[in-house]
Amino acid sequence: MTAATLTIDLNAIVKNWQALDAKSASSVETAAVVKADGYGLDAGRVAAALSKAGARSFFVALAEEGIAVRKAVGNDADIYIFSGMMLTDAEPIKQYNLIPLLNSPSQLVKYRMGMSEYPFGVQIDSGMNRLGMEPADFAQVREKAKNAKLVMSHLACADTPDHAQNQQQLQCFRNLTDGMKVRRSLAATGGTLLGKDYHFDMCRPGVGLYGGEPFEAANPVVTVSIPVIQTRDVEVGESVGYAASWVAQRPSKIATIAAGYADGLIRAMGNSQVFIWAGNKPCPIVGRVSMDLLTVDVTDIGQVPTHMEILNSHQTVDLLADAAGTIGYEILTSLGARYKRDYIGG
Ligand SMILES: *Cc1c(COP(=O)(O)O)cnc(C)c1O
Repeated sequence: MTAATLTIDLNAIVKNWQALDAKSASSVETAAVVKADGYGLDAGRVAAALSKAGARSFFVALAEEGIAVRKAVGNDADIYIFSGMMLTDAEPIKQYNLIPLLNSPSQLVKYRMGMSEYPFGVQIDSGMNRLGMEPADFAQVREKAKNAKLVMSHLACADTPDHAQNQQQLQCFRNLTDGMKVRRSLAATGGTLLGKDYHFDMCRPGVGLYGGEPFEAANPVVTVSIPVIQTRDVEVGESVGYAASWVAQRPSKIATIAAGYADGLIRAMGNSQVFIWAGNKPCPIVGRVSMDLLTVDVTDIGQVPTHMEILNSHQTVDLLADAAGTIGYEILTSLGARYKRDYIGG
């Protein structure tokens, strides 16, 4: 029996990058965020496909992730590291020509002493209070940051266009960086969609590339197809699955499919509005999600297919996420290593 298959459409990722690129002026660069192994879809393959399409800058969370991207895209691209510079990062940064986004005055001072011939960027915290130099600290080292390849910050509320914090962070970023002769970046996917005030010199979308909200117009990127391994009839009053949480109210046909929460199909999807698709026909999940198995009510569909889909153009990562009480980012990065992976295009 073949394993569940995760199909990743690299052409759709390229189209999404192009569509996001078209949201900003031609003078604004559109980079690509490929952290967490390209949101779980393979940073190397994603970066290679986007590089072919013209992307020149990539962002990862950690230096180790940057190595995989460097190997995939060759020497010309810029690869930035969000986490800044951790103790063991000097060697990979030098060897693979990675660009840390320094996040404290002491990192900046040390870098200028020990690594002065290597490029760096600076990350400012403009109000999210997660990572980056505090405004007062940045103001102190602004002069030393003038050779930065990029000065960036990150919006906390860009998914909510009318949230007051967007404007506040924009104003903070401007106050700190206006007049500097450095390239600037503030926008991820959400900020890219907020409009040109947020674009500066570079937008750096992540989730929108992979088909996720808030980029509503994204092309779907992932399909998950799961083999049906058994079908059974259950009588009225019989239960299905752990804790007997679902009980048949009518004579029912139940298909058991070979994927579960160990494949990122989290337990919260059980007894929710998540469907398993038999072609164009949606079938409800019944009972609890097991580690390696899911049970589906296929009573109404006639012929049971050999495979059923949980992610496809009908049910996107965000629909799945909403039903399970999470976000598309978490669904994507949880899919895991057990799938057979097929890549389209690239
Ligand atoms: C993850 C991340 C991005 C990309 O965000 P999306 O919402 O996925 O577009 C951009 N910048 C920073 C600092 C990030 O951490």
